[in-house]
Amino acid sequence: MPSDHRLSSGSSSASIGVTVLGATGTIGVNTLDVLARHPGRFHVVALTAQRNHQRLLEQCQVHQPEYAVMTDRAAAEQLRTELRRLGLPTEVLVGEQGLCEVAALPQTHYVMAAIVGAAGLLPTLAAARAGKRVLLANKEALVMSGQLFMDEIARSGAELLPIDSEHNAVFQCMPPNFAQGLESVGVERILLTASGGPFRNLPLEQMHEVTPEQACAHPNWVMGRKISVDSATMMNKGLEVIEACWLFATTTAHIEVVLHPQSVIHSLVSYTDGSVLAQLGNPDMRTPIAHALAWPERLSSGVAPLDLIATGRLDFHYPDRDRFPCLRLAFEAFETGGTATAVLNAANEIAVEAFLARSIRFTDIARIIEHTLAELTPGPADTLERILQADQQAREQARRLVHDIGHH
Ligand code: NAD
Ligand code: MG
Repeated sequence: MPSDHRLSSGSSSASIGVTVLGATGTIGVNTLDVLARHPGRFHVVALTAQRNHQRLLEQCQVHQPEYAVMTDRAAAEQLRTELRRLGLPTEVLVGEQGLCEVAALPQTHYVMAAIVGAAGLLPTLAAARAGKRVLLANKEALVMSGQLFMDEIARSGAELLPIDSEHNAVFQCMPPNFAQGLESVGVERILLTASGGPFRNLPLEQMHEVTPEQACAHPNWVMGRKISVDSATMMNKGLEVIEACWLFATTTAHIEVVLHPQSVIHSLVSYTDGSVLAQLGNPDMRTPIAHALAWPERLSSGVAPLDLIATGRLDFHYPDRDRFPCLRLAFEAFETGGTATAVLNAANEIAVEAFLARSIRFTDIARIIEHTLAELTPGPADTLERILQADQQAREQARRLVHDIGHH
């Protein structure tokens, strides 16, 4: 079905077709919230989820996409039956191939990449290859594939817009020609802010007793379980350092992590003349989502204006390296290069899953990642096959370690 039959009211420009990968997650739901505020400007082409067919069905009722993709076969069958019962025309596709298909459809102009973890790599890459505007939330995809991903973006002419609040903030504080190289545009450093998560002040000797419930209760943001645990270990910030290196073509030497417990400044860029530009706002992902959907224009997002007086004060601290070993591991993996960051990411995914399943302790997460990195020799990350192989080997190694130190 051609998409240009849907014209925005009061304007002659055609409505923009959007595919939301990971529609049922925190980012997916926030994306649909912003899209629904601008019905003339956008329409939903496809929605995807792993297995939550009830929520995907509700989203299909509201947004009437052409396609819905479920990676779980039984869930896809359920969704198909329920759509038919309601007389809805949405076509259901299954599996990873379906995800890649809806990321590359000609009537899709923008792809929100909001699947969590390595599962998002192939569909996000498919969107990049097809030259879409890629709204990147799925940082793990970029951490795994780095150069390869950036090369695909450059080759296809795709637009890459960061959704991660820090990177979106950095993007907003950069000059438009930053891709020429940060040095040539006068940028000295990128300062990534971090809340420090829920255990910033917990006595160190209590860190090993932390439960999944405590780890998932983030002080400032509501997020999926995996990224919540990553925020508690600060692996999230580690992944974000790597993400920033690729997005802004720089190295860890030009990136600094600053603890900022209020999560009001989302990140900063420091220039050679002493200027420091920051982006501020309430911690609500609809701001970066609306920014990336509208760029270079601006759109309303539903986010309340920032009340500086109520905010009162902004604090900054150095992150505690002993408390957050994952941060060091991420810096080291990027500096090692090649497949080391894919190994880091895969070991982290397995360790976080095991922690959430109560098979290992919170403090075992970093140990498992460190041991996996030590066991596997990194190689070049120049082909998708090599990256996926490193990911697989790291998962197997990390699973063995989980099994060895498992508490239950
Ligand atoms: P979430 O767990 O809430 O949602 C994940 C989505 O991915 C769901 O729709 C789920 O169905 C889908 N999914 C999960 N596993 C899948 C698989 N194997 N195959 C296909 N689909 C699968 O996660 P989230 O918090 O929305 O985060 C999504 C991504 O955005 C992550 O990469 C995260 O790091 C990033 N991110 C999130 C936030 C946030 O505030 N939540 C902020 C910045 C970046
Ligand atoms: Mg972030």
